[in-house]
Amino acid sequence: AKELGRNMYQMYDASMNVKNYQSLILERDLRKAILNEEFIAYFQPRVDARTGKVTSAEALIRWNHPQVGLISPLEFIPLAEETGLIIPMGKWMKKRVCEQLVTWREAGLPLVPISVNISSQRFLQKNFAMEIRELLEEYKLEGKYLEIEITENSIMKNEETVTKTLRELKELGVKIYIDDFGTGYSSFNYLKTFHLDGVKIDRSFIQNISSESENASITTAMIKMAQHLKLDVIAEGVETEGELSYLLEQNCNEMQGYYFGRPCPIDEFENKYLKG
Ligand code: C2E
Ligand code: CA
Ligand code: CA
Ligand code: CA
Repeated sequence: AKELGRNMYQMYDASMNVKNYQSLILERDLRKAILNEEFIAYFQPRVDARTGKVTSAEALIRWNHPQVGLISPLEFIPLAEETGLIIPMGKWMKKRVCEQLVTWREAGLPLVPISVNISSQRFLQKNFAMEIRELLEEYKLEGKYLEIEITENSIMKNEETVTKTLRELKELGVKIYIDDFGTGYSSFNYLKTFHLDGVKIDRSFIQNISSESENASITTAMIKMAQHLKLDVIAEGVETEGELSYLLEQNCNEMQGYYFGRPCPIDEFENKYLKG
């Protein structure tokens, strides 16, 4: 036992700390998860708050780990990005979404566009638009049923590639939204440079918007600017009646958040929002 104790100590000495070890296990499991398709897509409704109609949904990934159970993307997306595993993971999600749209179409259900989060790593590769075109062809889907959310960081990197990709996506009819709008760059110049369809105002601005005057004035300014530029504006993370009514007063009608519905498994989404 003494011997073992010394070895263990040496392991720590060789800077094998617990954190490194955990992330190695996580990486190993994540690789397995991709091979075994241990992911689940949850859908969260996006709503036109004037009519209450569900206008689209955002696809959000969950990992159903065989030992741990459901894991939030906040726990594995950073490592997936670091290791490049975000690429096959994203591929799985896009395919899953297209499959679902086809299933709904074949069942005669009304289709709503599904919005997919794209890592900047993938978005900035030259063949991104091609992947989307091939997917749409494979599933015989119109581009308007697939929407893409990218962050401000994605768009600020390689102007030439970004311009070309956005043009190709526009030709396909795929809409592009800026996610977490307001949290990235202090300049909004890119809104004029690139053709975008809309912005999703980050949840941090929406929180307590009715009582917090700072959030309120920033959000109002963002809504005005976006509308002036003829962009769709979606408010994220709407949780309360107060937030809802403040946004409606500002003519921001499209919303997403727990107030309308949490992300849920697809069959639940279907039953709640597409049927009856
Ligand atoms: P996001 O793209 O900003 O997605 C919105 C997040 O806010 C989701 O967290 C959603 O569950 C949560 N949310 C929605 N409404 C409310 C609300 O009213 N209140 C609060 N407190 N939260 C709300 P989730 O599902 O944990 O996803 C976290 C992040 O992980 C996403 O943030 C996105 O950046 C990333 N992510 C999720 N799925 C994917 C994916 O398939 N691919 C990539 N690249 N990233 C993903
Ligand atoms: Ca998003
Ligand atoms: Ca967001
Ligand atoms: Ca986010």
